[in-house]
Amino acid sequence: MSEYSKEIIQTVKEKNQNEVEFLQAVTEVMESLEVVFDKYPHYKTHKILERIIEPERVIMFRVPWFDDQGNVQINRGFRIEMNSAIGPYKGGLRFHPSVNLSILKFLAFEQVFKNSLTTLPMGGGKGGSDFDPKGKSDNEVMRFCQSFMIELFRHIGPNTDVPAGDIGVGGREIGYLFGQYKRLKNEFTGVLTGKGLNWGGSLIRPEATGYGNVYFASEMLATKGETLEGKTCLVSGSGNVAQYAVEKISQLGGKVITMSDSNGYIYDEKGINAEKLGFIMDLKNKKRGRIKEYTDKYKEAIYFPIDTKLNYNPLWKNHKADCVFPSATQNEINETDAKNILTNKVKLVSEGANMPTTIDGVNLFLDAGILYAPGKASNAGGVATSGLEMSQNSGRLSWTREEVDNRLRIIMKSIHKTCVNVSNQFGKKGNYVIGANIGGFLKVADSMIDQGLV
Ligand code: NDP
Repeated sequence: MSEYSKEIIQTVKEKNQNEVEFLQAVTEVMESLEVVFDKYPHYKTHKILERIIEPERVIMFRVPWFDDQGNVQINRGFRIEMNSAIGPYKGGLRFHPSVNLSILKFLAFEQVFKNSLTTLPMGGGKGGSDFDPKGKSDNEVMRFCQSFMIELFRHIGPNTDVPAGDIGVGGREIGYLFGQYKRLKNEFTGVLTGKGLNWGGSLIRPEATGYGNVYFASEMLATKGETLEGKTCLVSGSGNVAQYAVEKISQLGGKVITMSDSNGYIYDEKGINAEKLGFIMDLKNKKRGRIKEYTDKYKEAIYFPIDTKLNYNPLWKNHKADCVFPSATQNEINETDAKNILTNKVKLVSEGANMPTTIDGVNLFLDAGILYAPGKASNAGGVATSGLEMSQNSGRLSWTREEVDNRLRIIMKSIHKTCVNVSNQFGKKGNYVIGANIGGFLKVADSMIDQGLV
């Protein structure tokens, strides 16, 4: 690593102590960008990197609310407005007990590159709270969302900052957040994406991240003259991204044999077909149950509870597969998991989650020369379709399912092409990490230079 990169990383470490996920995300991008700084030193002169790692604005606030017993509860709310060089801040809200500044800054940082790759005019942001919607009643979730929005509303707007969903924030939460925003502003605008279809949402938005990831994987396989037909796949997670990845893989002739949640995973040797996926969607999205319940209904499947004493995840070790779609959370594939995946002769890893693989794991995949797509490229379909929702809102339009799905496919194809072309241009053929990081960086960096020192 160059002295310049080392200095940047050291500064990030010193200025953002204990922000391990943010440091990880910056380090990974720094490694990719070294070739850019060698070739185009003016980015150094303009201190683009020093500016890009500093959020334009960080908002942190108290969120008080009453639980069903009438007790006062306090959570912490955040919005990271990372970069607005190419458009309004855009990125999801995460409600999960693990949420802190480091996690949201890493997500916002990744979002800047991802949004740039989509070709749509969206800056990068991210937000959320350490609130845990799990086990809460609908009324509690509503009261929390209303209190969260009482502060957030003054910082966002259709031309300023447009949040969406992420872990723990789905259609229900977006509904409550939107309702409160509308009430406070007396304005019906496209201030959030992932809205319900009756009130400004876009067809295909719920499906977009999972479908987009599978479209991207198909593009990668096509470079080797292959398709998903007949391929055995491992999927982690059982939320929004995982569900629609499973649906699209099955539609394209693949067989998914695993899904998981934070308590454990299920293995179904026969494959999770449309009917079984319907059961999971009902279980997770309506009954808000646990993945374990799958084995009560489908006796042929096996449930493996999480064993926190292990330094690896058995989901990645115990089952042979052709393709892997991590779709739960950050760092769910560590170095040992990556070794296990490679031992099992997996050909492709396409990330649905954000930064699900540690840096050591990524390096193993790259060294092995398998098809490996970083989330900022392969999961960009979600935010891209959010961009399409924004366009429909501002034009008061409602595109058909086919139209949005076609646009999504075209965008995923174009992101794939960018990754391939950029990695070739910088002499790193087949390295999608380099392709995504540099491809995302250049447009933002040039826009920042055009706009002066802001
Ligand atoms: P959901 O909340 O719908 O689902 C998350 C899934 O991951 C659940 O099955 C959850 O299990 C599991 N999970 C969450 N945290 C952990 C953990 N610490 N350990 C193990 N499992 C965990 O979220 P999404 O599907 O929307 O998001 C999944 C990933 O995709 C995230 O990394 C997100 O940032 C990324 N992403 C999402 C996009 C979107 O459009 N929604 C867009 C781009 C990326 P449990 O229910 O037990 O918590």
